[in-house]
Amino acid sequence: MSDVRQRLRDIPGMDIILSYEWIQTWLEKLGRMRVKRIVNQELADIRKKILESEENRFIDDDFKNSCLSSFAFASRPSLTHVINASGVVIHTNLGRSLIADEAVKAMCESAGHYSNLEYDLKAGARGQRNSHVEDLLCALTGAEASLVVNNNAGAVLLALSELAKDSEVVVSRGELVEIGGSFRIPDIMNLSGAMLKEVGTTNRTHLYDYERAISEKTSMLLKVHPSNFRIEGFTASPERKELAVLAHEKNLIFMEDAGSGLLVESEILNLPSETSIKECISSGADIVTFSGDKLLGGPQIGGIAGKKNLIARIKKNPMARALRVDKVSLSGFEATLRLYAQGMYDSIPTLRMIRRSDDDLKTHAEKLAEELSRRINANIRVIEVEDAAGGGSCPEIKLKGWGVSLKHKVANAGHVQKLLRSLEVPVLCGARDDEIVIHVRTILDDEYETLISALEGVMNA
Ligand SMILES: *Cc1c(COP(=O)(O)O)cnc(C)c1O
Repeated sequence: MSDVRQRLRDIPGMDIILSYEWIQTWLEKLGRMRVKRIVNQELADIRKKILESEENRFIDDDFKNSCLSSFAFASRPSLTHVINASGVVIHTNLGRSLIADEAVKAMCESAGHYSNLEYDLKAGARGQRNSHVEDLLCALTGAEASLVVNNNAGAVLLALSELAKDSEVVVSRGELVEIGGSFRIPDIMNLSGAMLKEVGTTNRTHLYDYERAISEKTSMLLKVHPSNFRIEGFTASPERKELAVLAHEKNLIFMEDAGSGLLVESEILNLPSETSIKECISSGADIVTFSGDKLLGGPQIGGIAGKKNLIARIKKNPMARALRVDKVSLSGFEATLRLYAQGMYDSIPTLRMIRRSDDDLKTHAEKLAEELSRRINANIRVIEVEDAAGGGSCPEIKLKGWGVSLKHKVANAGHVQKLLRSLEVPVLCGARDDEIVIHVRTILDDEYETLISALEGVMNA
């Protein structure tokens, strides 16, 4: 083996590399800048290896193959369609809620055309972007006024900054939650300039705990939906109505961070533990904040609904401008709210998937298993599975579902899952023992063909 310096000198210079025949099409496809970045990265890896071991040196063919695979990877969009065969409807890592067809149409329309986003067509003058959804949202929640911003974290931050800055906010210790993606109530409180006053214990908080904590520095009682966990057993917390009465007796604001924006009666979704925004408002909440892309089933927005005078103050806060909603999400949100107003719940994918009947799920699982059995030589069974409304983003509500399990001849489930993730349209599925499990609840009708070919390729290999 030659010495290190010689082996480093054997690495060709960038100009020479960029003149190679095999690189020319990629210069066109990816652009010179990106090709150079990728080549530099490859060269850095090679240099590192040469310094690590005497065995390593620059090999033309290895370098070429490694570059070609990096170029191919870079030429594909990074953010891409995946098939969700996990049975988790509101999957935080997979983009939460799917948008209804009507909303997708509205979003494409507003993205590709000028719109009256901030233009009042009647008056021929400047208008308000919030005006497109405020009435609809009030009609669906019973609130006097409303505002939408970028997301719920922003909604909570904004509402606290305007309504509770430099004053104390009373929160139960049982509700000081962290929600996936590092949203923590104490941190948001800090950021807003409000001061957190914790009361009660993790499992039990009483009305008198709130009452004793109130002082002349207090501005607000805050209730937070403990979205992704549940305390069971010896627990207590005051009724929403009692908190509202107490707050109003003391001239304080009662705000609720509802997390998931449930716009229908909880019976419609068969989720008795959830509270609708309407119910929060009618129980006396002055301000309610919620996400657009959890149980509401729309695009990513944060909703703030409540008392007219408070919403008016929030709208004027400079932070409202920094957190404003973009036109594409806004148009999708309006279209989604219109579907609610018409009672077309099954047009909203999140609601439809959560409401899917046992029969429907079982029939789909059986059909899938039948088709797979024709094409794949493996142990294939229809099984009962546990699905979920959404882990981390909304309560761990378990749903009974149906799926298909497949056992590879030799590879273990983890390896099969990895292969399925590496496809052009990646498939994410569950596993149990040494079988992979395809949950049908979250698979769209137009995805079955792709899914079946994917499984065929991986399971027969
Ligand atoms: C999800 C959630 C949030 C954060 O909402 P985003 O829309 O993700 O910003 C805040 N509070 C509660 C209770 C939540 O469940």
